[in-house]
Amino acid sequence: MSVFDLASFDDHEAVHVFDDVRSGLRAIIAVHSTHLGPAAGGCRYWQYADSEAAMVDALRLSRGMSYKNALAELPVGGGKAVILKRATYPKSDALLEAFGTMVDSLGGRYVTAEDVGITDADMSVVSRKTHFVSGLPVEEDAAGGNPGPFTAEGVFLGMRAAVRRRLGREGFKGVHVAIQGLGSVGKVLAEHLAADGAKLTVADIDERRAAKLAGELRATVASTEDILFTEADVLAPCALGAVLNEETIPKLNVEIVAGAANNQLRTPDDGQRLYDRGILYAPDYVVNAGGIINVMAEYLGDGDVDAVRKRIAKIEGRVENLLARAEAEGTPTNFVADQMAREAIGRG
Ligand code: NAD
Repeated sequence: MSVFDLASFDDHEAVHVFDDVRSGLRAIIAVHSTHLGPAAGGCRYWQYADSEAAMVDALRLSRGMSYKNALAELPVGGGKAVILKRATYPKSDALLEAFGTMVDSLGGRYVTAEDVGITDADMSVVSRKTHFVSGLPVEEDAAGGNPGPFTAEGVFLGMRAAVRRRLGREGFKGVHVAIQGLGSVGKVLAEHLAADGAKLTVADIDERRAAKLAGELRATVASTEDILFTEADVLAPCALGAVLNEETIPKLNVEIVAGAANNQLRTPDDGQRLYDRGILYAPDYVVNAGGIINVMAEYLGDGDVDAVRKRIAKIEGRVENLLARAEAEGTPTNFVADQMAREAIGRG
């Protein structure tokens, strides 16, 4: 299928496809919007079923970044890169440098950072070839570096707003949260929730990781098949996208969905499905903006960790306002968030 025919292509400004024969790098950089500034969004390193799946992922993620950055009130647009993981060309300095050269060739229209499968050390290698990069290793009290913990902080706050609204509870004491994925965001989110008295059920495809964290936090481990359908107050998807869909939504057993994963809804209609089931959905890109708030402070040289934390703290009020508006309008929360974001990027 041609890229122009993909539903996710819709309103992208540009999509760049790269194939570097020497290093084996195959990558896509999707630029959704530069209306508010350079298109900013991380780089994902992932094994896709085929190149169309990689393209769809890049397009969906880049539009999500436009919406996320706009609602986080950042002076940047939205874009995303994906590097196609290939068994014959494992991740190497040469491959990451080639990616840096490709980012640089766009002259600053796209600014990269890490996402799933990419570390801050990888970003250091990318930075040998381009200045249009963020999420590099930093000193302790400087903004920037690994965005995961900052994303987790924002998800915690956004979830707290949803718990207040739906369950009428202040904080997490006795609130049961099921977390899917215990990577750089999910693990720190679990720690925040446990510290605030939540009861946790967790799962990760890395069973040792799940068992270790469960031991530390007195959490229950579920299988990766069961975690989505755990009977709990909140489901926090913190692995990959599209987990909320026609097949899974009828089987959910929670009051609230609030998590870090990008593009949790397979399609916007899945927001309607959640709404029809009476499940309160805290839109992913509103609650998971902490990481990009942090890396953009680093990139723009715009404040230290304290300033970043103050900006992340606003996520709680933002989610509260959004949920209140959606309830007043009788509209699924994702539709309200998308509408607000489109207005902010001049496509209302
Ligand atoms: P990560 O790669 O560090 O962790 C993902 C974890 O999920 C891994 O431990 C992996 O083993 C696990 N996992 C994968 N598939 C699973 C499954 N089916 N069931 C259970 N566990 C599974 O990634 P991360 O940085 O923690 O990001 C998690 C999600 O949040 C991603 O969707 C990412 O796009 C999104 N996100 C991350 C950030 C950030 O700052 N890192 C910011 C915004 C959004």
